[in-house]
Amino acid sequence: MASVYEQMTNEELDEQIAQLEAEAEKLRARGLKLDMARGKPSPEQVDLSRPMLDVLTSSTDLVDEGVDAGNYGCPDGLPAARRLMADLLGVDADNLILGGSSSLNIMHDVIVHGWIHGVRGCEPHAVQAARGPLKFLCPSPGYDRHFAVSASVGYTNVPIRMTPEGPDMDEVVRLVENDPTVKGIWCVPKYSNPTGITYSDEVVRRFAALRPAAPDFRIFWDNAYAIHDLNEEPDYLLDIFGAVSAEDHDNLVYEFASTSKVTFPGSGIACVVASPADIADLRKTFNVERVCSDKLMQLAHVRWFGDADGVRAHMVEHARILAPRFELVDEKLESGLGDLECATWSHPRGGYFVSFDGPKGSAKKIVALAEELGVKMTPAGATWPYGKDPDDTNIRIAPSYPSLEDLGAALDVFVTCVRLVSARLAREAR
Ligand code: PLP
Repeated sequence: MASVYEQMTNEELDEQIAQLEAEAEKLRARGLKLDMARGKPSPEQVDLSRPMLDVLTSSTDLVDEGVDAGNYGCPDGLPAARRLMADLLGVDADNLILGGSSSLNIMHDVIVHGWIHGVRGCEPHAVQAARGPLKFLCPSPGYDRHFAVSASVGYTNVPIRMTPEGPDMDEVVRLVENDPTVKGIWCVPKYSNPTGITYSDEVVRRFAALRPAAPDFRIFWDNAYAIHDLNEEPDYLLDIFGAVSAEDHDNLVYEFASTSKVTFPGSGIACVVASPADIADLRKTFNVERVCSDKLMQLAHVRWFGDADGVRAHMVEHARILAPRFELVDEKLESGLGDLECATWSHPRGGYFVSFDGPKGSAKKIVALAEELGVKMTPAGATWPYGKDPDDTNIRIAPSYPSLEDLGAALDVFVTCVRLVSARLAREAR
């Protein structure tokens, strides 16, 4: 559909551009310094977990179920903490390993494991790559740090279009089932970063039914937002391991999660889950790289939360802080752009992002103009492999960190930028 700007006469459009330029100058004069770039919890959210820091003191009994959390041992993690994460993810604790405080670190380790050692006895990817490039599928728009991991290790990232139901599964099936050089796919199945969508049951079932051409292909199921609902009507994600076993096969999925956006970003607990055979394979590599995982932080989480219900109650507190920010994004975009037919955006029920699409060729210009006016956004293109958004439309909005007041001011700038860039593009197209 043509935007309102495209339907204006030249005179009307010129007048509109002049008005918007004057508005932009006023905003520039305010000398704002606002940040909507990264999906960080707000200080208010992080404060929710401060009492956990009082749980472990010099007089705390560090022995939990016979395991001394203050000493070496239990490389897979504290049993009670493994059960806690397993309950939250709906998986078997025996198939879950805790390690460090960052799921992205674990993803990197798992990829490097396939590259150096090979996946479960297959030839190492590094050796295979000497004969020709190996590929990693990247549903896009997606998470820039995922794409950076696979590219930095040595895979060629291949974009796959996201649909409102999840990745374009016809394309995924075609590539995974016919091309043995495809070794992995990045997925954020719930409240995807940045689109906010949750994969439909049909998409999860098609993933589970994949018959990869490469025996060492794996799905990297990053369930980073598994419990990060914004309201009482959360999205439901079909259990991937259940779907895989219903298809009568296994060894297809590595699942990842962490408490980065539950307690302390980068300082909580993180895990990987896989089939028994795949977990045994990963364990061999993990046991070379570390003597044991950080059990004190695991103990603090277990003692403070008690059980999975304790974590879920805590997430309601996060939602209480986050939901008004997402509502504000929707309100500001709707009131500033709703009638103009020049942009669309997502309406997530959880997670940390809103995905915004402007007219073709607009994203880089909008982000650059916003930066000039004092609002930092995620770089345009970052949501695509190699920073190349083919239509230059997508911008990730991260509303969690700024205060409501700052967020409102940042969104006013953003809306003006979108209007001005869209109007200028309509003028240039004549
Ligand atoms: N996965 C996704 C999809 C994310 O959005 C993020 C952070 O924004 C991470 C992983 C990072 O998680 P961690 O802090 O556990 O490394």
